[in-house]
Amino acid sequence: MSKSRQKRTSLERFRLKKALDTLARKEGRGTELVSLYVPPGKQISEILNTLRQEHGTAANIKSDTTRNNVQDAITKVQQRLKLFKKVPEKGLVIFSGAIPQNGPGSERMETYVLTPPEPISVNLYRCDSRFHTEYLEEMLRERESFGIVLLDSSDATFAILRGRHLDIAKEITSGVPGKMRAGGQSARRFERQREAKVLEFFNRVGEYITEIFLGVENLKGIIVGGPGPMKYDFLKADYLHYQLKPKVVSTVDTAYTGKQGVKEVVEKAPEIMRQVRFVEEKKLIQAFLYEIGHDTGLATYGEEEVRRALKMGAVRTLLLSDTLDFERITVKCEACDYHRKETMNYKKVNSFQQGLMGQPCPKCKSPSLSANEMEDIVEEFARLGEQANADVEVVSIDTEEGQMLKNAFGGIAAVLRYQL
Ligand SMILES: [Zn+2]
Repeated sequence: MSKSRQKRTSLERFRLKKALDTLARKEGRGTELVSLYVPPGKQISEILNTLRQEHGTAANIKSDTTRNNVQDAITKVQQRLKLFKKVPEKGLVIFSGAIPQNGPGSERMETYVLTPPEPISVNLYRCDSRFHTEYLEEMLRERESFGIVLLDSSDATFAILRGRHLDIAKEITSGVPGKMRAGGQSARRFERQREAKVLEFFNRVGEYITEIFLGVENLKGIIVGGPGPMKYDFLKADYLHYQLKPKVVSTVDTAYTGKQGVKEVVEKAPEIMRQVRFVEEKKLIQAFLYEIGHDTGLATYGEEEVRRALKMGAVRTLLLSDTLDFERITVKCEACDYHRKETMNYKKVNSFQQGLMGQPCPKCKSPSLSANEMEDIVEEFARLGEQANADVEVVSIDTEEGQMLKNAFGGIAAVLRYQL
């Protein structure tokens, strides 16, 4: 995977995750938020029927507010759904409901229509006190593919795992004869012939790996497995395409080859892939720690310092912790051109906005300050990083290094191209 592709991946995932987190945080006053998942191939009329029935059932709800809110939410969903002639090819997800706003007793109907990044299989209508985003979150974890190669002395199996979808691409037999027990001249000749057969088998395995895996989109890695030592011999013998060689992320012992063995690997796969990303993240942060530890002047950290380095175009790698809960808020005066930016925890935004009301503008003294423009700080830095041509990496706190980035360096750090 190329560097820029990698960069897009960690950022893309972060963005989708953030959008889902925002939705997941929203809470209704009661059981009044509607989530609708429509898989591809379903008839719009059929879903409208279901919604009509749900609307009717909701008439039995005792509380006036809840009943009205649920029925309003269902109506909104129906309206949105009618805008589609047919269900999009990857399906459709709609969330709708009354979300309590700042002031007491004030609510606003909010409706969100999402087209999933991958085809959804879930068919769901639910009315709850929250939006059910978990099926999309699951999808987020499933966007990567990897290749599985299993081999032993008798056969080899090639499979591709795309998200949860498993595809056995090819099974071949080795043509390698079993080992001969007897000794002597003929045994040595037999052994030489057998070795030649093994190499011929490795060569064929290598060719199938190229044919099957080279064109696979988002191929995160290749896992080589099988019972016995043949998998190690194969890797040592070097029959892999040069572009695929660095993709081999793990070797796994399995009891079987064939479909059974593939299943064994699939069970271990999520853990393996998580480890792969952990190793990437560790390396990225260790590179930063090296510069800090050796006092080379080629690293910096903290919001203000990194912001300055980005403005100068000095950042090579920008490291952002995916747990940063800060917003970048623009305070503006409606009466003059006064404006400033502030960083604060997203939980403090509401009270900050309320606190601004009636405050005099530092420039014209008019009580016209407001703060309605805001941007997630990771988004802001990612944008600045892209503009400055830096490699942007959004990293988790699932490693010791990731924890350190967050706790000791404020979650924002940079490796520099030159000393400042
Ligand atoms: Zn002003």
